[in-house]
Order: sequence, then C-alpha cells, then structure tokens
Amino acid sequence: MHLSHSFYRTLKEIPKDAQIPSHQLMFRAGMIQQLASGIYSYLPLALRSIRKIEDIIREELNTRGCEEVLMPAVLPAELWKESGRWDIYGDLLLRFKDRKGNDYCMGPTHEEVITDMVRRNLRSWKQLPWNLYQIQGKFRDEFRPRFGLMRGREFIMKDAYSFDVDEEAAKKSYQLMYEAYTAIFKRCGVRFRAVDAASGEIGGDMSHEFQVLASSGEDLILSCNTCDYAANIEKATTPRQVQSQDSTELGALETVDTPGKKTIEDVSAFLGAAPSSFLKSLVYEADSVPVLVLIAGDRDVNESKLQAALGASALRLATDAVVQENIGTLPGYVGPVNLPGDIRILADLSVQGVVNWITGANQPDKHIRNANLERDFKPERFLDIAFAAPGDACPRCESGILEEHRGIEVGQVFYLGTKYSQAMDCSYLDENGKSQPAEMGCYGIGVGRTMAATIEQNHDENGIIWPVPVAPYEAVVLPLQINDDAVSNAAEDIYTGLKDAGIDVVIDDRDERAGFKFKDADLIGYPVQIVLGGRSVSSGKAEVKYRASGEKVEMPLESVVETLRTWITDRRRGDS
Ligand code: ATP
Ligand code: MG
Repeated sequence: MHLSHSFYRTLKEIPKDAQIPSHQLMFRAGMIQQLASGIYSYLPLALRSIRKIEDIIREELNTRGCEEVLMPAVLPAELWKESGRWDIYGDLLLRFKDRKGNDYCMGPTHEEVITDMVRRNLRSWKQLPWNLYQIQGKFRDEFRPRFGLMRGREFIMKDAYSFDVDEEAAKKSYQLMYEAYTAIFKRCGVRFRAVDAASGEIGGDMSHEFQVLASSGEDLILSCNTCDYAANIEKATTPRQVQSQDSTELGALETVDTPGKKTIEDVSAFLGAAPSSFLKSLVYEADSVPVLVLIAGDRDVNESKLQAALGASALRLATDAVVQENIGTLPGYVGPVNLPGDIRILADLSVQGVVNWITGANQPDKHIRNANLERDFKPERFLDIAFAAPGDACPRCESGILEEHRGIEVGQVFYLGTKYSQAMDCSYLDENGKSQPAEMGCYGIGVGRTMAATIEQNHDENGIIWPVPVAPYEAVVLPLQINDDAVSNAAEDIYTGLKDAGIDVVIDDRDERAGFKFKDADLIGYPVQIVLGGRSVSSGKAEVKYRASGEKVEMPLESVVETLRTWITDRRRGDS
C-alpha cells in the first residue's frame, strides 16, 4: 500500500469522551469512527488488525476440532421465550417488531439459536462432541457505552458452543477451550490472567474470565500473594468465618431514636459506633419473592454470589414500595428482630460470631441495640454472599493475602450444564436408546475489545507499539526525500521486495516532512520502520528502527529485505 493513496488520516485532536489510551490512540491513528453512541465503523487499519486476531482465533479453534458457522444477527423472540430469557435479559436486549407485529431482538449472544440449530441435527450419542463457533457482530444496548471498542453497543464477538454426552465430556470440552484461549491471547501479545468468574444470567456453575491486566480495566480482580488463586471480585470467595471466641456479655435489647438517620454512615456517626457493629438488613426480590439479607455493616452484598446462592433467574434490590408493603417501614430502618410476616432471612458468613448488633427496628426513625443471633433472630441459612476485599485472607491457601488488580475481560468460558438443552429439548439417544439432554458449554471472545486491550498494554507517549502477530502492517518504508530519485527508487525496491516476501508493508510516499512521517509511523506503531534518507542511500545503507525497543540499526540496502523477512516471520506466532 502506498500511503499517498491510502484511505487514512491521522488526527491531532482527541474527542472529550476518549479517556483511555487505546481509545485515544485508535482515534488519532484513524482506525475507528463513531457513528452513534457505542457504534463504530472500522477503518482499514483497525480491520486489518481485527482480521488477524480473527485468524488467530480460527487457527486455534479449528486445530482443536471446532467448526465455524454463521448465525443470523436478527433473532425471533420465540426462541428467547423458550429459554425464558426474553423476560429476564433486561434492557441490554434491543427488541423490535417486524411489519407483521412479530417480536425480534438483535442477538447479544446465541445460546438459543445454536441450541435450536443443534437440536434439529442431533440424534445419537455417536455424533458428539460438537463445538460450533462463529465470529459475528453482536448488539447489546449497554447502559454506558464507553472507552471506544472496549464497551460498544455493536461489537464483534467470537462465540463458541460445545455439546457433549455428559458432564465429564463437557468439562473436557471446557478444558480444551481454556487451553485454546490461553494460546490465542498469548499469540495476540497481551499479558493476561485466567480468573474464576461468576456465570451471571447465562447460567451454569463453572466459569473463567481471561483478564488483560491494565490500570484502565473496568473489572476488579483479587489474587493471592502466595498461591495461584485469582478471581473476579464478583466471584472471589471469602474464607469461612470462625465462630467467635467473643466472651462479651449479651446486652439487653434496647430501642433507640435515630431520627432521619438511614445510612450506616449516618447512624454510626450519630450513635458513635463502628460500621462493623451494624447489621445491615437489605430486602431483595429474588424471582419476585422478597428475602431479607443480613450482612455486617462494613461489608457489601455481592449480588452475583447472592443470585447464584439463591439459584434465582433475576435478582434486584426491592423498591421502597415493596419494602413498605412487606416490612411496614422503609429501607434504612429494616432489621431482623420482630420481623412482621413470614419473609425468609438469609445471612452472610460475617453475621456469625459477632454479638450485640445495632440494626433497624422496623419502625421509622428507630434502631435497636444488642440484637443477638439465636436469641433475637435466626437466619434460615448462612452463605458466602459478601464481596471479598483486598487484605482478606486467601480462601484457597488461607496463609496468603488477597491483592487487588484491574483487568479488561477479553474472553470468558462457561460450563452450562443442561440449562438450555432442557429448556429447549435438545437431546440425543444414549447407548441404551434413552433420551438425554446434551451437556453444553459456551465461550466468548470480544474481538474488538482484544484489539483495544492489546493497545492498552502496548503503547508509549508517541503511539501504539503493535505486537507483530496483530499489527495492521508489519513494516513501513519511509523515503525521506520523495523527490530524490535515488531515495524513492531504493524505497520502492525495498517495499516491493518485502511485499513479494509476504510481509505486510506500506510505503509512506507522501510528500511530507521527515518529522511528520516519523510521528505518524510511531503513532500507528508499525513494528519496523525502514528509513531511507539521501545521505544513507548514497552510501548504500538504510536505517531500521524497531518500534518496541527503539533500537536503530544501519544495514546495507541489499540485506534489508532478507533480514526483516526473518525478523518479522520469527515473531508472527507471537512466541518471542
Ligand atoms: P462485560 O462484563 O464486560 O459487560 P460480559 O461478561 O457481559 O462483558 P460476555 O457475555 O462474557 O460479556 O461476552 C463475551 C466477550 O465479549 C467478553 O468477554 C468481552 O470480551 C466481549 N464483550 C462483551 N460486551 C462487550 C461490549 N459491550 N463491547 C465490546 N466487547 C464486549
Ligand atoms: Mg463475560
């Protein structure tokens, strides 16, 4: 490609909403254009990198026996009603009607469609395992689209789905995909960590996220400073609380006035007591049924853990009206003592072993002191439903301490079990001729987000530093005096030589100043720059700059092509 005729333009200004380096750099390097909030066009440079990431994904999946398909983006509501997700997926799902009034949505993920595709073909156990994947645009009406391609509304995802005869086979498929993901992200040139993750609304009980470590990441990861435990904070477990040796005497129940004080901070300041001595009492609606959840005042309820523990399809904090109707008071004054009605009470492990709690009195403007477990209230179950926090003991080795890191979730793998196959009757006949639901797994990679995360980790103040395997172009030839025939001929020769050697190369043949070309080359981040100036060409030399190390090497014109062909092809698989 000759840049003089290429459809690209670097930009100096940065849009206000571009807050993180990858978004700023992609914008400045002319890689993406925003069409509407969270909806982007991919310009040539971005698409080249995306295609390379997709090719890496294809190679790693095909070699593990996966087969590529392409499903529609517009999905009929019927399938989503069969799985039950039409009503619970919420506002992320973009729904619309066709001219006949039938309901549709834009596909945010394809468990329903693939399950339907498979049930139409699956007959016998002998056909399995199957693993089908696609690379396709997804649509999710994100509440806060931001950070460019990191959190778009329309984005490219690779989604794969495995079908197996039983749990053991399904877990093997899961393991295989875990290995594929490890290979894929290694080849993309990012530093990442696979962490335990919550399954969320997709379902299932085993999941890992692949997190690229970056300070701009939206996810919080807790990892042990001693063993290899690492988990998304949504999933991280807290060590079981030991029963307290606390010998403090149990005080007598006492109601105190706390006019207008609803939050733990307000009441704790008002009563002069530490937040850890408060029993936080929250009313949730789990599949529309209210439950009271208790937790120590210095801890927060982790709703994904709570939802998983309750096995609920939908969970939300109850509205004021629901709390008023069931408890007879407003949030802020709710507590487990003398609770009206027959509402279920669940408690976090932090509620064990502490005495003399302060808690809501189920009356406006009043709290209770000295509320005690067993004597004054009795939860139905104790569960691990708190957010773990940095500084907590490691739940695995118990000798290490959890540390906090930020990460960008580029991929996630889920073991689903039979959630979809049962709901949608996707079954096969086993060896005894008995019908069995297929065991499923699903596996996603955000392709655009992976590209953005690669930039987030590989850049400096001058621009992008592409790892060779995903670089839009691997090399740029920079003739500095384009009107000097010797320079431009030498440049064209090297450009053609590299192209013929199979290198992705561009030549910056624009009639621009050297400084301008250098800046652009650094910004776009070609792994190799081949600089040709009048003086060096007349002495038969080129200067080669390696973007990542900044190293500059002079080499004879005639050896440039072979030297760089070797250097680049050695790095294409991303192992070095
Ligand atoms: P997040 O928690 O970031 O919203 P998710 O867990 O809902 O993502 P998955 O359903 O696991 O996402 O989707 C698979 C992959 O698709 C994610 O790991 C991520 O890389 C990518 N992805 C998800 N949502 C977006 C988005 N809005 N923009 C870009 N990529 C996305
Ligand atoms: Mg995810």
